[in-house]
Amino acid sequence: MSNPSYIIVGSGIFGVSTALAIAQRHPASRVMLIDRGSRPLQCASWDWTKVVRADYPDPLYARLALEAKEVWRNDPLYKPYYHETGLIWVDDDTFTKAVTSNYSALGAQEDWELMPVAKARELSNGLFANADFGTYDSVYVNWSSGYADAGKALERVIETAIEKGVTFVQANVESITFDEAGTCTGVSVNSREILKADRIILATGAETGALLLRSAPHDSRLHAGDRLAAVGLITGRVRLGAEDSNLHKSAPAFLQARGAFPGGVMPSNSDGDLKIGCDITLANQVELLPGTFLSTPPEQPESVHKEMADRLKTYLTSLSRRILGDRAEALDIQDCRICWDAMTPGQDFIISAHPHAQGLWIATGGSLHGWKFFPTLGNYVVDMLEGKLEPELSARWDWNKDDVSFSSKRWFPSSQMSAL
Ligand SMILES: Cc1cc2nc3c(=O)[nH]c(=O)nc-3n(C[C@H](O)[C@H](O)[C@H](O)COP(=O)(O)OP(=O)(O)OC[C@H]3O[C@@H](n4cnc5c(N)ncnc54)[C@H](O)[C@@H]3O)c2cc1C
Repeated sequence: MSNPSYIIVGSGIFGVSTALAIAQRHPASRVMLIDRGSRPLQCASWDWTKVVRADYPDPLYARLALEAKEVWRNDPLYKPYYHETGLIWVDDDTFTKAVTSNYSALGAQEDWELMPVAKARELSNGLFANADFGTYDSVYVNWSSGYADAGKALERVIETAIEKGVTFVQANVESITFDEAGTCTGVSVNSREILKADRIILATGAETGALLLRSAPHDSRLHAGDRLAAVGLITGRVRLGAEDSNLHKSAPAFLQARGAFPGGVMPSNSDGDLKIGCDITLANQVELLPGTFLSTPPEQPESVHKEMADRLKTYLTSLSRRILGDRAEALDIQDCRICWDAMTPGQDFIISAHPHAQGLWIATGGSLHGWKFFPTLGNYVVDMLEGKLEPELSARWDWNKDDVSFSSKRWFPSSQMSAL
């Protein structure tokens, strides 16, 4: 097939990056990008700000994140949205040792230090003077890490993909369609309209498991099973005044990895929006088919957010007090939401053919850390489609990776959303 046609479901970072990479490598291919949301999107990838860092204990993701950061720093498409204001990471020294030995092994020129806590309290005019540093004497600070204006970057890359010939379709995909031989042929949208293509790529994030179940309720070989689960994190935003915005916009991101209220306070973006994100992980376990339970985002997220607004705010206020001390009292936290991502047991992406359906591919997952790879992800997906993905990546991102149980419990959802 010289120029296959593509349907990509989902315009988060996986779908958009893949659409752009196909359009760049194969300009004659027809690419349709489908999402139910209008832009800007309320998906995991749409956000006020996201952390961009290569501080990974896992050498593979450290290497890939260093590569992505080079694109963030230098590519005119991404560079305007990237800001290297540093990252403070409060964690035990197992994390620091693993991260920094990766940098040594990779020969990376990262500007990191173990900063005495007393000095960290003086950073950014004492912004973190009353932060909870636990019993640590020093804290990991990386001045080569930073953040991106996430929503704006996502919108710009969608526009670029469209300029390069990608068709954006706003529609709800109800199910994937198959022919009698079980080959995937297209998707059914908006009550019975069928859109067809040679290759269907699901980049549907936290909803991937539910979509596969709906599409083939009687064929468990097609289901995600324990490979993907929807995990929700609580986030909210404060619109800062000019003075506070000046202080926060050049401050490092501050991440608390431990304790009762883990999470972070981000630098403020160009609109003066300060994001607060609580890393308590939530599940929404529902019985989608008789006897089949799955964690999936709620069907009416807006009404859930409205109903739970006070409770969500309480979590974010407690977390911001741990980081900003008394300054947190003045923060008017708005737009509280639970943002859902597709978690995989080993925190690896899934970038893989579906082994039980010709014509069907999956690109999503990875447990709450994938956004920073936005500039490079699509190239890996296209490499995978062309059978060119390096063997280590194929093995880690394969649908049938051996480790498909939730054995790594750190990010396993600690509570049910309904129990908040
Ligand atoms: C709160 C939070 C904070 C995070 N912070 C960071 C960070 O700081 N740095 C970092 O690197 N990573 C971060 N991550 C992780 C990162 O945001 C995600 O891993 C990544 O955005 C997931 O992208 P995706 O394309 O898989 O899914 P999504 O962005 O969720 O996109 C999936 C899209 O598919 C669409 N869709 C699904 N089903 C259908 C359907 N049936 N029909 C039509 N459309 C459909 C949805 O509307 C959605 O737009 C964070 C995640 C969360 C939840």
